[in-house]
Amino acid sequence: MWTVKEVGLGVVAVSLSVELIVLLVRRLRPRRTLNEVLFFPTETACVEHIFTSRSSDTCLCLLAHGVESSFTRLLRHILSASSSLDLCIFAFSHMDLSRAVCMLHRRGVTVRVIVDKDYVAITGSQIGVLRKAGICVRRSVGSVFMHHKFAVVDRRLLITGSLNWTLSAVQGNMENILVTEEPDLVKPFIKEFHNLWAHNDPARHHSSSDQNPAHFTARA
Ligand SMILES: [Zn+2]
Repeated sequence: MWTVKEVGLGVVAVSLSVELIVLLVRRLRPRRTLNEVLFFPTETACVEHIFTSRSSDTCLCLLAHGVESSFTRLLRHILSASSSLDLCIFAFSHMDLSRAVCMLHRRGVTVRVIVDKDYVAITGSQIGVLRKAGICVRRSVGSVFMHHKFAVVDRRLLITGSLNWTLSAVQGNMENILVTEEPDLVKPFIKEFHNLWAHNDPARHHSSSDQNPAHFTARA
């Protein structure tokens, strides 16, 4: 005949076993990988709440509020960075995206930007703003366009597609973005960024890198 103590110990053992099994199942079950496709153009809406974490009800600007769009999704993905943001972008003139990148830099996130050499100095380019904020920017060398449009967040999340980081692309053009955590897709972009970052090191091309590029017409 079992004593009360033995029964009690048995109950504890069973409950601990159940908890252990639940923990094991949770650990073994593959975490759902983020995959998302975003299309543009998007409607114009206020994004202040994304930057300030305040309720959109408190903003007094004239734009629509409380709107979730492809652009707000893009902003949230970029601002999810906690350690690094590697950005390779042909054209960068969107002020909210520039604000997001500068905000990450201020948070201590390591931000690296590669941009097309011809685009750096065109009217509206945010590259000067990024550099002024202390963000490391390298412009492409060579005679061909650096036409990539991708970002890697924390070496885990890839944002890539047709979208340049410009107002006309976000609000005017038909564009697409793929956002994915699939390692087989993220890793080649990490490698490409690594190669381009090294290839466009000004120390390797000091004779030409400090020259001011000519002014070009804005391209989306
Ligand atoms: Zn507002």
